Amino acid sequence: LYGRKFLTIDPKNTTQTCSNCGHILSGADKLTLADRQWTCPVCHKHHIRDYNAAINILNKGLAKQ
Ligand SMILES: [Zn+2]
Repeated sequence: LYGRKFLTIDPKNTTQTCSNCGHILSGADKLTLADRQWTCPVCHKHHIRDYNAAINILNKGLAKQ
């Protein structure tokens, strides 16, 4: 429809994954719903929570094609 592709992806870890280096937060590093911004402990990139998650979802969708 409208020349766009629609894909479903698994949203698991999209919020907890660094879109820059792929590091997945775990344990005490995990974000809570109150964390709107965070800095990756591995590559030290600063992320806006929802923007980072959107990039991860986009990357997952592109990887599925
Ligand atoms: Zn990182």
